[in-house]
Amino acid sequence: MSDSPSRVAVVTGGARGIGAATAERLAADGFAVAVVDLDEAACGDTVGKITAAGGRAVGVGADVSDAEQVQAAVERIAAELGPPVVLVNNAGVLRDNLLFKMSDSDWDTVMNVHLRGAFLMSRATQRYMTEQRWGRIVNLSSTSALGNRGQANYATAKAGLQGFTKTLAIELGQFGVTANAIAPGFIVTDMTAATAARVGMDFDEFQKLAAKEIPVRRTGRPEDIAGTVSFLVSDDASFVSGQVIYVAGGPRA
Ligand code: NAP
Repeated sequence: MSDSPSRVAVVTGGARGIGAATAERLAADGFAVAVVDLDEAACGDTVGKITAAGGRAVGVGADVSDAEQVQAAVERIAAELGPPVVLVNNAGVLRDNLLFKMSDSDWDTVMNVHLRGAFLMSRATQRYMTEQRWGRIVNLSSTSALGNRGQANYATAKAGLQGFTKTLAIELGQFGVTANAIAPGFIVTDMTAATAARVGMDFDEFQKLAAKEIPVRRTGRPEDIAGTVSFLVSDDASFVSGQVIYVAGGPRA
């Protein structure tokens, strides 16, 4: 268990995938967890697993790209669980297409969820972190930040999150708040399943092909990311800030 059992963590996109695994891990570490996702009912599984294991959690429906919904969600979390001092900006979407076929809406949706969403959530929660003189922000970047065919929108957003992270680290460090980014490689979730479907491949075959290119010769699991988040939000990581940690089974994937 963590040395900070009453701290409150917020995980966006916590209904499934990496967000769900992270919410469960932080609850196991002793945090009370707000599971934020577009649809409040969809948070039920994650919240149920946490409470069944003896943890404290609440599901909150909000679109992270909507300023009013974000404000209302964060106020509700503070009222129901306490001041949110850990924020994991994990909510994400894909709208992959080659540049010449990418629509305005493909571009805007990805920018809005990843960049605007992380900005709005960070701005709304930093007040509680700076008041407590302790806080942790973890942003989900991606190996796609290094460039990836068909992902001009997503690669740009994920690279942007790295600059955002470093700037938050510089601005908030004096208040005991750290900010770091995790850049996952291939993690088995609905998101990578959707990518396999889009390119017309069987998901198992898609994973096997991906694993061959990864130095540790396996694809990642949501728990691989959750474990890294667990370290970054711990007291042990208080001198780690403004970093991008590639969790990809190799230097990049
Ligand atoms: P996922 O399984 O698709 O889950 C993403 C979650 O975010 C979903 O529950 C989704 O809700 C939610 N979400 C989407 N838009 C939202 C919004 N506007 N407001 C609130 N919630 C929203 O994805 P994942 O694979 O776990 O990925 C999690 C994060 O890691 C993402 O930021 C992703 O870009 C990043 N990442 C993933 C991989 C990978 O290989 N999987 C690699 C690198 C980085 P709905 O179900 O309602 O859409």
